[in-house]
Amino acid sequence: INGQEKIDYVFKVVVIGDSAVGKTQILSRFTKNEFCFDSKSTIGVEFQTRTVTIKGKLIKAQIWDTAGQERYRAVTSAYYRGALGAMLVYDITKRQTFDHVARWVEELRAHADNSIVIMLVGNKADLGEQRDVPTEDAVEFAEDQGLFFSETSAFSGENVDTAFFSVLEKIYGVV
Ligand code: GDP
Ligand code: MG
Repeated sequence: INGQEKIDYVFKVVVIGDSAVGKTQILSRFTKNEFCFDSKSTIGVEFQTRTVTIKGKLIKAQIWDTAGQERYRAVTSAYYRGALGAMLVYDITKRQTFDHVARWVEELRAHADNSIVIMLVGNKADLGEQRDVPTEDAVEFAEDQGLFFSETSAFSGENVDTAFFSVLEKIYGVV
């Protein structure tokens, strides 16, 4: 992208979910097309950006990563402020991380804007042999709660762009 082109919109998207589900790796796959094996757990709230084109408009996606604050209710409302989208990530090989998804939805309903676009993301799809969460369970939950749903692999890159683009396009449709 030519740095002199004018950004039409900045969309803030937050990434949430239990610790170690792959939030930081999903973000780094989307913004840098990288996967880092020895990533440290995140310290301090941070975001990364990637500028994309949607329907001819330049959109800067500002993707926020939690700061090792994934304990229940530890993420502050400042984190959610102004967020137009959320990637709610669980690990398909760890049932507990999916069982906690309902709590994260509650958090979003409590702190984020009502119109926030939420994508439920089952990450680590490359580890299918260790699957602990059937896809149908997630599909059912997502339909129930009115969320988008995708299974991704930050490791292989599978569906990561698609999931982010779905959220950004949906946001674009409502701004
Ligand atoms: P976070 O705490 O949610 O930010 O999780 P991280 O992004 O730090 O990832 C936690 C661990 O899972 C790290 O060891 C990553 O290398 C690993 N991981 C993340 N995404 C994937 C994935 O898609 N596939 C596999 N196999 N491992 C992953
Ligand atoms: Mg992290």
